[in-house]
Amino acid sequence: MLVHAFLIKYAEIALKGKNRYRFEDALVHQMEIALSKIEGDFEVKKEQGRVYVFCPENYDYDEAVDALQHVFGIVGICPVMIYEEQGFEKLAEDVVSYMKQWHPDFNGTFKVWTRRAKKSYPISSMEVSAELGGRILDAFPEASVDVHHPELDLSVEIRDKIYVYSQTIPGAGGMPIGTNGKAMLLLSGGIDSPVAAYCMARRGLALHHIHFASPPYTSLRAKLKVRALARELAEYTGNCQLFVVPYTKPQEYIRDNAPDVLFTVLMRRSMLRIAKLVADQSEMEALITGESLAQVASQTMQAIACTDAAQNLPILRPLIGMDKTEIIAISRKIGTFDTSIEPYEDCCTIFTPPHPKTKPSLAEIEAAEAGMPGLAELERIAAETVEKIPIRIGDDPEF
Ligand code: ATP
Ligand code: MG
Repeated sequence: MLVHAFLIKYAEIALKGKNRYRFEDALVHQMEIALSKIEGDFEVKKEQGRVYVFCPENYDYDEAVDALQHVFGIVGICPVMIYEEQGFEKLAEDVVSYMKQWHPDFNGTFKVWTRRAKKSYPISSMEVSAELGGRILDAFPEASVDVHHPELDLSVEIRDKIYVYSQTIPGAGGMPIGTNGKAMLLLSGGIDSPVAAYCMARRGLALHHIHFASPPYTSLRAKLKVRALARELAEYTGNCQLFVVPYTKPQEYIRDNAPDVLFTVLMRRSMLRIAKLVADQSEMEALITGESLAQVASQTMQAIACTDAAQNLPILRPLIGMDKTEIIAISRKIGTFDTSIEPYEDCCTIFTPPHPKTKPSLAEIEAAEAGMPGLAELERIAAETVEKIPIRIGDDPEF
C-alpha cells in the first residue's frame, strides 16, 4: 500500500512575513523540479502554512523519498495516509487500521497528537487524542501511552480529509536553492570543489560552474569528467550551466613571461579575473572555490591574500577550515567521490614549478603582472569564447 502524500517539515525559525513566503515558494519550486524526473504526477501544494506532496496512484516510493531528500530546506519528510472525513467513529476505525497496517505488532509507548485545521469539527483536539488513544490501547493491549517521551508519535490532522502519519524521514536541511543569491563555482575535477558546491547550495545559493581547460595539455576526457561531476551535483544544485573556459593561451603566456616560482598564484589570479568576467554577464554575486587552508602551496594565508586581491567579487571558501578526511566524507555522502578520483589531468597541475613560493607578497605578484601586458587581452578573449554546457537534473553522469 503506497502512502497518499508527504508532509514536508522545514525549519521555520526566523522565517517571518515576506521571507516565509519567499522561502516556501522557492521550496515548492525546487521540490517540483526534483519530482519531475520521477514517473507519475506529483502535486506540490502549500496549504494553511504547510507544504504537502500529493502522490499519484502509482509511483516508486523509494525514488520519491530519495528525490525529496535531495531538496535543501526540508528537515523532515512524513509519509501520510489520507482518509475521507466521515465522522468520529469512522475516523477511529481508520486510525486503528492505520496502526495495524503500518505498525502491526506495536507494543511500545505512544502518544496521539491531534490538530484541527477544520475548526468546525465538533470534538476538541484533546478529546479526539484521548479517545483515539483508548481505541488504540484496545487494539494493541501490549502498548501504553507516554505523553512525554513516546516511542511512536501518531499525528492526526483533521482537514477536509483526515491525514494520519507517524514517521519522519530526515531531509537534507539547509535553505532552498535560490533564496540566498547566485554565485559561480570554480569546478575542477578534484574532490574538493564539488563538495564546496554542495555546501554553498545547501545554504540556498543558486550556482553555476566554471571550469578551465587547457587543451591539448588537458584532454577531452578531463572535460567530460567535470561535466559528469556537474551532472551528479545537479540533484542538489538543480539545473544550471557549466562554463568551460579555453584557458591554454593565458596559461602559456604566464608560463613564458613570469617568474617560475610565482606561476601558480599568478595563474589563480588570472582564473579568478576570467571567472569574474563570466560571472558579471549573468549577474552572479560571488565566486566559490574548494580551497582549504594550507592544503597545497597556493592555499597558504599569503597566497590566498594575493588571490583575493585579483578581482572584487567576494570569494566564498566553504572548505577553508575542513580537514581532507572531512571533505572526503562529504564527497562520499553526496556521491561525487568515485568520479573525482578518476585520474585525469587538471590545468592547475600542468606547468607547476617544482618549488612554488608559499609566501608571495602582493607587491612582487603585481610587479610580475606588470611584466605581462598582453595578459588582460588574452583573459578577455578567453571569457568571451567560453563554452556553455547546460546541466539538467536527471542527465546521465556517465562519461
Ligand atoms: P580540487 O580537489 O577541487 O581540485 P585542490 O585541492 O586540488 O582542489 P587546487 O588545484 O589548488 O586544489 O584548486 C583549488 C580550487 O581552485 C579548486 O577547489 C577549484 O575551486 C579551483 N580550481 C582548480 N582547478 C580548476 C579548474 N581547472 N577549473 C576551475 N576551477 C579550478
Ligand atoms: Mg584540483
